[in-house]
Amino acid sequence: MFEPVLLRNVDVPDGHLLSTYEAGGGYKALAKVLREHTPDEVVELVKQSNLRGRGGAGFPTGMKWGFVPKRADKPKYLCCNADEGEPGTFKDRIIMERDPHQLIEGLAVSAYAIGAETAYVYVRGEYVAAIRRLEQAIAEAHEKGYLGENILGSDFKFAVHIHCGAGAYICGEETAMLESLEGKRAQPRLKPPFPAVAGLYASPTVINNVETLACVPHIVMRGAHWFRAIGPDKSPGPKLYCISGQVRKPGLYELPMGIPLRELVENHAGGPLPGRRIKAVIPGGVSAPLIPESGLEVGMDFDSLAAVGSMLGSAGVIVIDDSTCMVKVATRIVEFFHHESCGKCTPCREGLNWAVKVLRRIEAGEGAPGDLEQMERLCKGIFGNTFCALGDGAAMGLRAALEHFRYEFVAHIEERRCPFH
Ligand code: SF4
Repeated sequence: MFEPVLLRNVDVPDGHLLSTYEAGGGYKALAKVLREHTPDEVVELVKQSNLRGRGGAGFPTGMKWGFVPKRADKPKYLCCNADEGEPGTFKDRIIMERDPHQLIEGLAVSAYAIGAETAYVYVRGEYVAAIRRLEQAIAEAHEKGYLGENILGSDFKFAVHIHCGAGAYICGEETAMLESLEGKRAQPRLKPPFPAVAGLYASPTVINNVETLACVPHIVMRGAHWFRAIGPDKSPGPKLYCISGQVRKPGLYELPMGIPLRELVENHAGGPLPGRRIKAVIPGGVSAPLIPESGLEVGMDFDSLAAVGSMLGSAGVIVIDDSTCMVKVATRIVEFFHHESCGKCTPCREGLNWAVKVLRRIEAGEGAPGDLEQMERLCKGIFGNTFCALGDGAAMGLRAALEHFRYEFVAHIEERRCPFH
């Protein structure tokens, strides 16, 4: 039986209050690093733990911290990506609403490690309850001396500011988020330079996701070996999985990284709805290519999913059953990306516009011979040719639907109607 780590407070009454967090050992990790460790030792500990970013890319967190120059003539910043716009994803919201101090302690320990005195939490604007809880938690932490000057009697000073997003998916892309924080239109930046060298206000900046930061105090208290012993060695640790779609028990589950997707969906989430069969599962938010039912033995970790051509992404698991039209699924996904495209690069801006038109035509029973080949050419033209990963995500999702469920697209074109209506 896996004991929750990140979600241990979420069902506790008043779990969002400082008193509850402290009663469960909260802020002891911050006290420990300030008392016993240099910043470099904290970076090394996180490197040893093999913690990989939970926002989607899975980049090793300790390595990312290690890229920040030791000496810099500008202030260093820590930014928390809490924009959580990936459809099917709601894990960071639960942490912020139900256990915000876990994030604040993670921010403080991480800021100490990289030498930052200021952090910005970029929160999705629709997350009103999360924003209020974070504001309350920041005020409580200030009052108790966990934030501010001379934290816990040390030389370390640290402040956390909240920035509310305005509903743009692209702000989840780290450099677009920095542009938005600087008050500009959110469009991705050319890299290099990478944010660790020239990020917010051209200063060294680390950007970590909420769940990633929430793992840090536990690694400090329980050690890198404890963390590495959970799940596969190359992608270890406790993991939050958001399960939605046509499944009996949708919700947020905390289980070890690497759990087989079938076990997650059928055992923990209760399997398909009565009388239905699972047709496919999107394992990591809509930018992760779907996996057909026959592939559900795959482990839910970065490397295992990459090996089968998909992604862990945000671990937003969307279950699709046999009552669903895959042309409709593909159309809704590509429509989403088309709507959220920032318009900076042509393959994404124009390619997705074109793909939406073809998909809508096929869905309406007005597809023509050659449409599928045209969409394959479009995917080829978009994938690998866009400025950021948004275009790639859309192309990969469409390609996976075409690859695994081509017969449904063909049926729409040949029968000149949707067979699922
Ligand atoms: Fe903008 Fe799309 Fe290009 Fe990314 S891929 S920069 S979202 S137009």
